[in-house]
Amino acid sequence: MGLFGRRAEEDDEDEDDEEEVELVLFQGALNGKEPNMKENQRLVQAGLNPAKELVTDGLTRRAETIRVEPKGERSQVAFLVDGMPYAGGKLTKPQGLAITQMLKLLAGLDIKVRNQPQSGGLKAQWNELPYELVVNTKPQQDGSELLTIKSRPLKNQIVTPDELGMSDDLKKKIREWTSQHKGLSLSVGTPNTGVTTTAFGMLRGVDCYMFQVHSLRDLGTREVVNVTPYQANAEDSLEQTLMRIIRVESDCVFVDPVINADIAKTLFAMQDKITLMSEMAAKDCASAIVQLVQWVGDASLVANGLMGLINTKLIRMICPECKQAYRPNPKLIAKVGLPSDTKTLYRKPVATENEKGEVEEPDPCEKCTDTGYFGRIGIFEIIEMSAGVKECIIGGGDANAIRTVARKEGMTTFSKDALRHVAKGITSLEELQRVFKPVA
Ligand SMILES: [Zn+2]
Repeated sequence: MGLFGRRAEEDDEDEDDEEEVELVLFQGALNGKEPNMKENQRLVQAGLNPAKELVTDGLTRRAETIRVEPKGERSQVAFLVDGMPYAGGKLTKPQGLAITQMLKLLAGLDIKVRNQPQSGGLKAQWNELPYELVVNTKPQQDGSELLTIKSRPLKNQIVTPDELGMSDDLKKKIREWTSQHKGLSLSVGTPNTGVTTTAFGMLRGVDCYMFQVHSLRDLGTREVVNVTPYQANAEDSLEQTLMRIIRVESDCVFVDPVINADIAKTLFAMQDKITLMSEMAAKDCASAIVQLVQWVGDASLVANGLMGLINTKLIRMICPECKQAYRPNPKLIAKVGLPSDTKTLYRKPVATENEKGEVEEPDPCEKCTDTGYFGRIGIFEIIEMSAGVKECIIGGGDANAIRTVARKEGMTTFSKDALRHVAKGITSLEELQRVFKPVA
């Protein structure tokens, strides 16, 4: 249970027993618009504290997304934690409206506009840590608005290849791909699956002390050591900008996502002069290659210009506080492909029987609010440009054909990569079964 629905009872309790919940501080709209609190006193009175409580509840649960969805006379609160949805409390219609309007005001949005989608954000601070809250509203058929708040901690983000969960082997591959003064390395995936995080992880995987690395991409609040931001001239084309970067003797450049044929063509025209790194939206690595061939119109140029592609999925890590060790059945170990010497695995705690034959329920866990999981880690599908893969691309192979050849040549698949984390006790077989149904 979060703050909602619980607060009222708590207020009646002896207050000395209650732990003070520190409420989030809102610190200004990202678009710089000063919210006019004076002119909106009634709204502030009705909405400010409930908005703080809602966001605090979300941050307490480590929710990446908070939703307030009007449903008839009520508004349903929902949280997305480590990619899994959890229902929160219900609000009355006026409460939901006050919170939505208040967050719009705080995020520098127009509170008079309720019939078109709006998007903005604000800075916030909670438990002495800075957050960025992205606020989106979407009109519903009945005239109400769906509110979503995405929270992004500005510290403690997954940043390094290690924190992302990249294997030593993958880190080595990235260093190889990016040390040749040529070729394009790509992080691919569907939006919100970690594709951007992996792109930055790749960037951090470059040997920035050996090589001069420039970024055309806005680094935002992300700290990247030894990468020089490059301010392109507004009137220059991407090709002209890349030429300028090459002239300052750069070895490697991090570019904006590959979103169309023009960008793809430019990158492949320049790939023999400098190391290029980027990201691209695609279902998987093989589909990205096929899309690039279509855009560039030259399969051979794509096959020879690519260094490698990485696709990311995030899986939940088992909670370190409440994880339960067990001895797995050797048959199961063999079936899923874990090392045969695996003696101990971990799982979300389940009820067990003690010596007396009594059933013992697991203890409640504060750290993970009994979800059994805490945080996420990456698993990776990797396609390298082996002779076989190149040949398949040049021969006009479709995504299936490319995938088949890559697998035959030992490509790292998601399920293979995920077993590393199971063997190390970082995640559970149950989590893998959830992610890869049917079981890999
Ligand atoms: Zn736990």
